[in-house]
Amino acid sequence: MISVYDCVIVGAGMAGLTAGRTLQAQGWSVVILDKARGPGGRMATRRFGPEGLPPGVFDHGAQYVTATDPHFADWVATAEQAGHLKIWCGERAGEDVTKARYCGTTGMTAFPKALAAGLRIHYSQRVIQVLATAQGWQVIPEAGEPYTSRFLLLTAPVPQSVALLTASGLAVPPDLTAVTYSRCLTVMAYLSSASEIPAPGYVGDPPAPLVWIADNQQKGVSSAPTLTLQADPSFSLVHWDDIDDRIVEHLTQAAGRWLKDSCILMTQVQRWRYSLVTQPHPAPFAALATPHPLVLAGDGFAAGRVEGAFQSGQAAAAYLVSTSRAGQGESALGQSEPPTRS
Ligand SMILES: Cc1cc2nc3c(=O)[nH]c(=O)nc-3n(C[C@H](O)[C@H](O)[C@H](O)COP(=O)(O)OP(=O)(O)OC[C@H]3O[C@@H](n4cnc5c(N)ncnc54)[C@H](O)[C@@H]3O)c2cc1C
Repeated sequence: MISVYDCVIVGAGMAGLTAGRTLQAQGWSVVILDKARGPGGRMATRRFGPEGLPPGVFDHGAQYVTATDPHFADWVATAEQAGHLKIWCGERAGEDVTKARYCGTTGMTAFPKALAAGLRIHYSQRVIQVLATAQGWQVIPEAGEPYTSRFLLLTAPVPQSVALLTASGLAVPPDLTAVTYSRCLTVMAYLSSASEIPAPGYVGDPPAPLVWIADNQQKGVSSAPTLTLQADPSFSLVHWDDIDDRIVEHLTQAAGRWLKDSCILMTQVQRWRYSLVTQPHPAPFAALATPHPLVLAGDGFAAGRVEGAFQSGQAAAAYLVSTSRAGQGESALGQSEPPTRS
């Protein structure tokens, strides 16, 4: 175990993984801490099914990835060649991948799992406090020993990073508290037989309160017939505290016309408190005026979604590297305003 890391990254979602890979490629010692049991964050895949039947696979967070930024398109193309991503729908004209919608070959987590390979990631490590000490940042998980680092990068959804800063007694700039996300109630339904959803396996304009239905079997990630049903933000807010059965009833009723003779054998509910960004931060990341360098990144910055999280993670890593190279250290990070995209 390294005693002082160059950088501790909180969060093994797309932003944290991208930053981790970028910093490690520059020779930095990096450790990523995530409270979850695996990588991906909101690029999430779950497996379950009734006893005696093959487990169903459910992409219950991000449904697909688009790549309009050439750099991200390169990463996507590499993942496609390696067999981690495939085109689900949309078109690719020759080398132009920007119109295609990609999904993981075995579920959305396939991509972040591939990005996580070769990185030092400690799972089930919920960070509860960060302290500026003479040695650098001391990053304190709920259980286990603290980690020490020169630089600190927080990539949780911005309100969660803000809560961490507050719990640590650090000042939070108002432009961070202005970042907001919509909620999304999601029902995963294991069916007795194939759904009536048309190829290629999604309904993008279902009746309210649904905003999205995906057929994971047609998507090619589940051998068993399974649906992912996602509710709109206002329904999700109003019904947030409803019991699971009630949420299932609402959403499966709205999806009824695509079930026909198929019965629902098993369901699970996921409550996404932070799904899509509704009010992003205008810059690609935020560097705080702290005793040691501390940067926030993730989909709450700039473009949002998976691609935006990638761009934010890259921009934050590039900023940390340039700060370190310039030897500016603490004094250069006395800026209160986040840097803008160059
Ligand atoms: C229902 C839903 C549908 C979506 N659909 C799409 C879509 O189709 N296409 C698209 O591009 N995007 C979609 N998105 C958005 C996309 O998933 C996100 O924009 C992207 O995955 C965000 O990546 P991130 O790294 O910024 O954050 P996250 O993926 O949220 O990663 C943050 C990580 O930080 C960890 N963490 C948080 N707090 C702590 C702590 N205190 N200690 C340790 N770890 C911590 C979390 O466990 C998590 O793994 C969707 C999201 C949802 C929820």
